[in-house]
Amino acid sequence: MMKNVTVIGAGAMGNGIAHVFAMNQFQVNLVDVSQASLDKGLQTISGNLDRMLKKGSIQEQDKSDALSNIHTFTVLAAGVANADLVIEAATENTDIKMRIFKELDQFAPVSAILASNTSSISITQIAAATQRASQVIGMHFMNPVPVMKLVEVIRGYATSDAVTSTIMEMAKQLGKVPVEVNDYPGFVSNRILLPMINEAVYALFEGVAGVSEIDTVMKLGMAHPMGPLQLADFIGLDVCLSILRVLQDGFGNPKYAPCPLLVNMVAAGKLGVKSGEGFYNYTHGSKDLVLAARFQ
Ligand code: NAD
Repeated sequence: MMKNVTVIGAGAMGNGIAHVFAMNQFQVNLVDVSQASLDKGLQTISGNLDRMLKKGSIQEQDKSDALSNIHTFTVLAAGVANADLVIEAATENTDIKMRIFKELDQFAPVSAILASNTSSISITQIAAATQRASQVIGMHFMNPVPVMKLVEVIRGYATSDAVTSTIMEMAKQLGKVPVEVNDYPGFVSNRILLPMINEAVYALFEGVAGVSEIDTVMKLGMAHPMGPLQLADFIGLDVCLSILRVLQDGFGNPKYAPCPLLVNMVAAGKLGVKSGEGFYNYTHGSKDLVLAARFQ
């Protein structure tokens, strides 16, 4: 029976993952190299719990119980010493993840399952940094974690059946819907999403239609809650570009080549919501849309 979960990285995804486990009576160790990220992560969790409280979906007691289930660490070795399961949600960078998994293998109990929330890095490659590849698996939560139901469970080349079924059950225990997929570039989610976003950028680039026209067609015509260009701004255009490169490199198929407009926008520092401008403008860090004049 799993009880102790360690989450590595207290950023956007890590704090959401910690929130969900803490709400489900797990003891959660939240580890980050940055004390400021830990503080901000806890603040975000507390704010999100307040919102649930206001909506009446939890009681005051649930909030304080959840917060008291979370313990923070800046030293990985201390944070994983009693872990039954570790979920790594640190910065999306292969070298960082390889280093973290090497350390996890060294300091987490030998029985611990080591999961990664990576969006695009090979689970098989990450597993190779450890001596326990059969216990390494992808647990790809969606943003925002407390709201989104899907967990894409990614089996690396060596992941065992037993570890896969433990993680599938664990995701259900959290009230999520797990889907098992194999470890190939982009898994299922990003292999399908990113080419759609790239095609939307191409449609814009080639002058087929403007930003709001493209997004409106996909929203009203395909019942997507958000158009692909707005979604790209939310994900971050740099993140979109790097996932397309993973697909392009991984499959060696030119159909994944990123649109030159996307490449240019990233080079110009127009990264979407986080930089204040992408396909839309975002004033004062808000997510409200102001159409970028050049694309109208
Ligand atoms: P983020 O930049 O918000 O947070 C990353 C955190 O990791 C930071 O707080 C940073 O200080 C910390 N960190 C960096 N190196 C570390 C180390 N060695 N040890 C401990 N902590 C370290 O990133 P994010 O958006 O939360 O993404 C985290 C992971 O989740 C990435 O692999 C990303 O691909 C994946 N992911 C992101 C999303 C999304 O929508 N943001 C969705 C699904 C999956």
